[in-house]
Amino acid sequence: MKKYIVSLFIVFLTPFILMCETYVMLDTNTVKEGGIIKISLRSNEPLKATNIEFMGNTYQAFYKKFDIHDTEYVCAAVIPVPLGTKGTKKLTIKYLLKDDTEGVKDEKIRVKQVKGRETTINTGMINDTFNAKMSKESTIIKSIQDPITPVKYDFPFMKPVEGITTGNFGDQRVYDNGKAAWRHKGWDIAAKKGTPIRAASSGNVVSAASTQSCGNIVIIDHGAGIYSMYYHMQKVYVKKDTLVSKGDIIGTVGATGIATGPHLHWQMNVYKIPVNPAEFLTAF
Ligand SMILES: [Zn+2]
Repeated sequence: MKKYIVSLFIVFLTPFILMCETYVMLDTNTVKEGGIIKISLRSNEPLKATNIEFMGNTYQAFYKKFDIHDTEYVCAAVIPVPLGTKGTKKLTIKYLLKDDTEGVKDEKIRVKQVKGRETTINTGMINDTFNAKMSKESTIIKSIQDPITPVKYDFPFMKPVEGITTGNFGDQRVYDNGKAAWRHKGWDIAAKKGTPIRAASSGNVVSAASTQSCGNIVIIDHGAGIYSMYYHMQKVYVKKDTLVSKGDIIGTVGATGIATGPHLHWQMNVYKIPVNPAEFLTAF
């Protein structure tokens, strides 16, 4: 009798299981503040929609590839964990299948604090006028990252320039005797002026401009809300609205804007939230 029930279950349930098999996978449930969570959704039919909720924001997973080996559609999402996040946070992943059935998966994310080194920097350039200009430029840089476009990235990203790390992501920075202070939003890599800078991954150049605070800049849209930024450049070789591949030379290292020496400030934003660039150097 018992055997009969089991077989009946298999006969009746198998077609359903095959119809809507969806797996949600996270690379980790423990992340550092300023880190990212990499999510994969694998299903044997294309998903109609996805909705990911984390810390009051909503994100979308994007179609990445069709896995021929497993005959599965793969969607991916990169979720940012802002600097300053503490404790355990809820992550909710919802997806809609083509017959409108909804799947939900709740996950707990434990966020670890990062002890940022405090550095004082004297530029002699910061005053009220400069702060006002800087905040205006930062608003423009943010608005450039409004569009959420299809995936163009190619993991792992590459370090845009080889050199010496002079500033880590998350460091506490105090400028000109406290006239300005913030946590460092990028990775500073010092190299000789004129050293080539390469695109960290494939994408579309959405800005190649000159600013007072960040100097000559390039911003690349990698899709799915992921943008890479390159600051303080000497020369810029790319123009707005050009597609670049991972490794393409986009310009050279300089010391334009607020910089005490030639270096690249490499920043990665996900949905405008600055995250640690080092997290993009592993496969996904
Ligand atoms: Zn920097």
